[in-house]
Amino acid sequence: MAAILDQFLDQNLTELKEQGLYNEIDPVQGANGPIIQVNGQSLINLSSNNYLGLATNDELKKIAQTTIERYGVGAGAVRTINGTLDLHVKLEEKLAEFKGTEAAISYQSGFNCNMAAISAVMDKNDAILSDQLNHASIIDGCRLSKAKIIPFLHSDMEDLRKKAKEAKESGQYNKIMVITDGVFSMDGDIAKLPEIVEIAKEFDLITYVDDAHGSGVTGKGKGTVKHFGLEKEIDFQIGTLSKAIGVVGGYVAGKQKLIDWLKVRSRPFLFSTALPPGDVAAITAAIQMLIDSTELHDKLWENGDYLKAGLKKLGFDIGASETPITPCIIGDEKLTQTFSKRLFEEGVYAKSIVFPTVPKGTGRVRNMPTAAHTKEMLDEAIATYEKVGKELGVIS
Ligand code: PMP
Repeated sequence: MAAILDQFLDQNLTELKEQGLYNEIDPVQGANGPIIQVNGQSLINLSSNNYLGLATNDELKKIAQTTIERYGVGAGAVRTINGTLDLHVKLEEKLAEFKGTEAAISYQSGFNCNMAAISAVMDKNDAILSDQLNHASIIDGCRLSKAKIIPFLHSDMEDLRKKAKEAKESGQYNKIMVITDGVFSMDGDIAKLPEIVEIAKEFDLITYVDDAHGSGVTGKGKGTVKHFGLEKEIDFQIGTLSKAIGVVGGYVAGKQKLIDWLKVRSRPFLFSTALPPGDVAAITAAIQMLIDSTELHDKLWENGDYLKAGLKKLGFDIGASETPITPCIIGDEKLTQTFSKRLFEEGVYAKSIVFPTVPKGTGRVRNMPTAAHTKEMLDEAIATYEKVGKELGVIS
């Protein structure tokens, strides 16, 4: 190893470890379902994004298996060479139907979808108004585009309006985009899309919504844009296929000409191998399930409401989530980490989230109930919260 790299790694890794910021990863031994095994211990899992339990759905597993038998395990090439299988075309038709748009394009992950889509349309002569709590992949996609990034205060429509007006009136930018998460995963709050659309109309903004945590969850499962009935108003509907849909991948749904452009200009589509066939078939079937039925969605919300009510009754601060995401706000960073560690020891896997991911003094243990949890599992988790909460003086 080059001496300069050796020195860089030693110094920075030591610093991180001393500050308690080095994240040790304990692998999950087996499926990421409502109960997981970690270090040989069985735990109630409140940390996955497998909102509808589809990651371990038997029907989807079978579809993936039979597809692999026929197509093999890999797509074999990038989409624009000959990696576009008939399965990808079917998936994209299904995504457009699901999102109520003319067309859709899929990518290998939600993360690279944001990198791909933003930079395919925006450039150094443009500006992007970006909610300050937007996901890292949006931030990186904005940076990659070289557009001027103008952050606005989280879901603060006055601040957005003021900055949109300034940007428009400055005459400095060719195009201006407003970009937001649909559901913010740290607090479970929903973006104010009707107001954003109004501001966008007033100042001729391109609208971009990353609904990674909304698809399958809000809008009766069809997402946050559908929740507000804004399918015709939002230019870019982004989603991930790795959370509620349970597999892997990302997509943009929108007008046909937007998708046509992304197919010729978005670099991960042009230069990275297509999603594997087994995954694509399972994803398409999962989306069909969400089109056909709200059963899993309804169960997810029932479980979310149940967990929230249980924790609130005990006296925990569960914030103001508008979705099943249930933060339990502890405050102090060290106490939050101890809380999560004690939950683990008592059989509940719920990760602590602290500064810099959330503002200082708002450390929280974040709970992600899913449709696959039973009432018994949730009762056990709530009882564990009560025990640990009393022990650490978080509740009385
Ligand atoms: N966008 C948002 C808002 C997300 O929360 C995430 C995942 N944490 C992503 C994109 C990335 O999605 P993926 O895991 O499919 O890469």
